[in-house]
Amino acid sequence: MTYPSFVPHWVADVEVPSSGGASFDKRCPIDDRVVAQVARGGAAEVAHALSSAAGAAGAWSRLPAPSRGAILGRAATLLREREHEFAAIVQVETGKPWKNAAAEVASSADLAVFMEGEGSRFYGKTLPSPILHRSVQTLRSPIGVCAAIMPFNSPLAGVAWKVFPALLCGNAVVVKSHELTPYTAVAFGRLLKDAGLPVGVYSAVQGTGPDAGAPLVRDHRVGVVSFTGSTATGKLIQQMVSQRAVLAKVCLELGGKNPFVVCDDADLELAADLAVASAFIDAGQRCASGSRIIVFDSVYDAFRDAFLQRVAKVRVGSGADDDCGPVISRASLDRLIGQVDGAVARGGRVVAGGRAVAALAPGYYLAPTVLEGVAVDDEVSQQELFGPVTCLYRAGGFDQAVRLANSTHYGLTGAIHTASVHRAQEFIARYHGGLVSVNGATFGSGPHMPFGGVKNSGNGFREPGTESLDVYSEWKTVVINHHPGRI
Ligand code: NAD
Repeated sequence: MTYPSFVPHWVADVEVPSSGGASFDKRCPIDDRVVAQVARGGAAEVAHALSSAAGAAGAWSRLPAPSRGAILGRAATLLREREHEFAAIVQVETGKPWKNAAAEVASSADLAVFMEGEGSRFYGKTLPSPILHRSVQTLRSPIGVCAAIMPFNSPLAGVAWKVFPALLCGNAVVVKSHELTPYTAVAFGRLLKDAGLPVGVYSAVQGTGPDAGAPLVRDHRVGVVSFTGSTATGKLIQQMVSQRAVLAKVCLELGGKNPFVVCDDADLELAADLAVASAFIDAGQRCASGSRIIVFDSVYDAFRDAFLQRVAKVRVGSGADDDCGPVISRASLDRLIGQVDGAVARGGRVVAGGRAVAALAPGYYLAPTVLEGVAVDDEVSQQELFGPVTCLYRAGGFDQAVRLANSTHYGLTGAIHTASVHRAQEFIARYHGGLVSVNGATFGSGPHMPFGGVKNSGNGFREPGTESLDVYSEWKTVVINHHPGRI
């Protein structure tokens, strides 16, 4: 696959440039090459996409849910047939190693299959009524037009997680691509067209957040804004929607600062393996990455040795056998190095990495980085860094480990490694997060698994799973009275 030299918008099933021809560079994180010019969208392109979506939404919503699902089933088949093409797009856009790019395609196809099935399980309830000759039922009702605003870290999975359930629920969707990963959503549009999706039901616009995202969020034709990205932008989007004349539903899937707790009865080898995977897969650019490793004092040194031995073996690069790719941009690489240097200036110690990988320059590769001795209230302990950087902390015992786990404003995922069912159950009860993993990694999701966070990690919605239908549909309660005497 060759990445196109120009990345357009996708509206009404055709590629469109920006009015006036404005564009910006797309660079590949592997080698800093400019691989394409990207259409720079703004209010005009958003308005075009929304008109197309609003025009198509009605007929699409009236198609039976199983028929909508059947189109997603065809999309799954096409995704599998085009695995190589989509993995190549993801790799050029993010630089991630091939196995991780291919895994995104496979998981997106699996999600389409699950959502196809949801079309035949589009259940409501029948409710009893205390009033004679009255029946009550609930129905899932489409919302209309959905705005889906994307992060950069998993461009295909990101689009799939929002678009498949939104379509299944009978909505038209306008995607705002992330400006650093623009083409995936266009290729996805072509795939949906080939799967039989009616014209206009899916569009993608390119551009920056303020230029293309903000007009989309503010437009009264948008009934649900589904956003995945940073907490700061999520809060801004919530505010923008609050200022509209007519409110919209807002689904926020935000950042994480996920704890990985290693107790004194843990299998230290397993814990070390999974701590490495949690911290460094996708170069740590995962909302669920394990960025705080909290280890009981009595096993700290033994765990640290096992962990650092494995960190030294992480293969950095984007090849078939590599584990940890580049970060998304030069700006991100510079920011991360600055944050590590700042932590060191405040008393932290770098025990692995901490520098760009010179042999892979000008690609944006940061050596897998481990910090030690960082204060719990230091900014690198509190802020999501979104890169291959993790910190080690000591805990005197279980209660302190739980306190540390809960000591940030985030609450997305958390892992505990222990042989004790009592510790595991207490951690499940006491960790404030949306996902708890026992003797596993901090990440892990599946098409049927609801995923999302609490506190600054989200606003209560879950994607995907059946729960994601609650983002993209409204419950309508129907009350029917009848009169047996009037038969
Ligand atoms: P970001 O907030 O910088 O950008 C996300 C999107 O918002 C982009 O498309 C951007 O253009 C858009 N945007 C920016 N300003 C906007 C505005 N004023 N109006 C409308 N849209 C605007 O986030 P990012 O750095 O691209 O993504 C990484 C973040 O995403 C991390 O915090 C990560 O944890 C989070 N994330 C969360 C999940 C989850 O499921 N909880 C999954 C993946 C990523």
